[in-house]
Amino acid sequence: MAESRKVAVIGAGASGIVTARELQREGHRVVVFEKSNQLGGLWVYNPRVETDLLSLDPNREIIHSSLYRSLRTNLPRKLMSFSDYSFDCAENGSRLNFPEHEEVLRFLNEFAKDFAINELIRFNTEVVRVAPVEFGGNRWVVESKSEELSSEELFDCVVICNGHYTVPRIANIPGIHNWPGKQIHSHNYRIPEPFKDQIVVVIGDGPSGLDICRDIATVAKQVHLSTRYSEIVVSKLESYENLWNHSKINHVDESGEVTFFDGSSIHADIILHCTGYKYDFPFLETNGIVSVDDEGRVVGPLYKHVFPPKLSPCLSFVGIPSKTFPCDDQGVIFLGSELQAKWIAQVLSGKVLLPSEEEMLADVEDHNRQLEEAGIPKRHTHRLHPHVMEYMDWIAAQMGMPSLDPSLKEMYWSIYKCASEVGFANYRDLWVFENLTQSSL
Ligand code: FAD
Repeated sequence: MAESRKVAVIGAGASGIVTARELQREGHRVVVFEKSNQLGGLWVYNPRVETDLLSLDPNREIIHSSLYRSLRTNLPRKLMSFSDYSFDCAENGSRLNFPEHEEVLRFLNEFAKDFAINELIRFNTEVVRVAPVEFGGNRWVVESKSEELSSEELFDCVVICNGHYTVPRIANIPGIHNWPGKQIHSHNYRIPEPFKDQIVVVIGDGPSGLDICRDIATVAKQVHLSTRYSEIVVSKLESYENLWNHSKINHVDESGEVTFFDGSSIHADIILHCTGYKYDFPFLETNGIVSVDDEGRVVGPLYKHVFPPKLSPCLSFVGIPSKTFPCDDQGVIFLGSELQAKWIAQVLSGKVLLPSEEEMLADVEDHNRQLEEAGIPKRHTHRLHPHVMEYMDWIAAQMGMPSLDPSLKEMYWSIYKCASEVGFANYRDLWVFENLTQSSL
């Protein structure tokens, strides 16, 4: 008979709500802890920003979401659906294939309502400590805080779904400590207006950097996008009069100059770091069994990015491999989280067995060795590209489920191809134009 466990889920973003659904479907008793007053996580746009625009002050009030006002999804809605709950059905939705962020939040709220997930969520309740009652045992203490009241509760298992786009990573630039201009991380970017008539250097050509430099170019005097490569020759971008593409920054100095490896230099007012985020689990106490390494880029050891071998199956993580599309990091995040959640739910009920601790550790080591042999830096440990589909199929197979619908795979690769061919600025609109008529997709 399937076992029913009492499970704490930390976070009510997309990963947390689908995890709650899967655990409940499998007969587990679920409590979701959510520190904010609503579900949706990253998709809850907050016009406020942190007091320290680089988010370095440990005493700052932390704002969870990194959404900017103009953000449209970077995946089409079909690839942001759950397996049995389509984003196409969102009420009052636009017809855009790559919708604006408000629609995603609406979709997640509808999902939660239709599966009665709200009733499982304790809002305004921040988890401040998660620790095993005893190592080797299978009871966990979850300490939470709500309106200054602290409480401790015991659970059989904990699933961590706290998101990982909140704690910024800052570029390390020679001379930056004496550079007199203003600095900000994209976590604290919302709207272009404060950049009016400014000369701005945007560091990072990931999805946020590529979006934000164009957003700012609508009002700024000049925008200089600094990519991660040293060899790039400086060039003006596309149809913009005030947007340049540069190499990596070589150094900055106290006069306000920013000098690039491409030989050019400019006197800038603002540096905007679009340099990504760190994994962070400030509440997790495992005596070093699970750690965050490589300056916040790697969580481990994790079997298939989900289970820490030594603490399995009672501790697990959902949403770790999620990186944003397109560019070189990508994933089908909602569906990926759903599959991970189904797997966890069935492992906890005893329907699906995990390998032994030793076998799982060997698998993690094998994964790390393969990366090393292929010359892939450690920081890409959780990057699934180009094996994202194989990863999802592998999890599905653990539960005897069929592989992912081939039409979704086809769609995924067609977007990837389109983005590579026409560039980040245009793929959302051109892909819609080229593919809408292919009704099979
Ligand atoms: P989150 O949405 O971050 O949710 C985590 C939740 O945990 C939050 O509600 C938070 O309040 C709560 N929480 C955290 N700590 C605690 C605690 N201690 N106690 C209680 N609650 C806690 N993905 C896509 O699929 N398509 C896109 O177009 C896309 N665009 C993106 C654009 C940007 C700028 C960024 C940064 C990411 C984007 N992503 C996109 C990735 C996105 O993060 C995922 O789609 C998804 O929202 C992740 O969901 P999550 O539940 O794992 O995390």
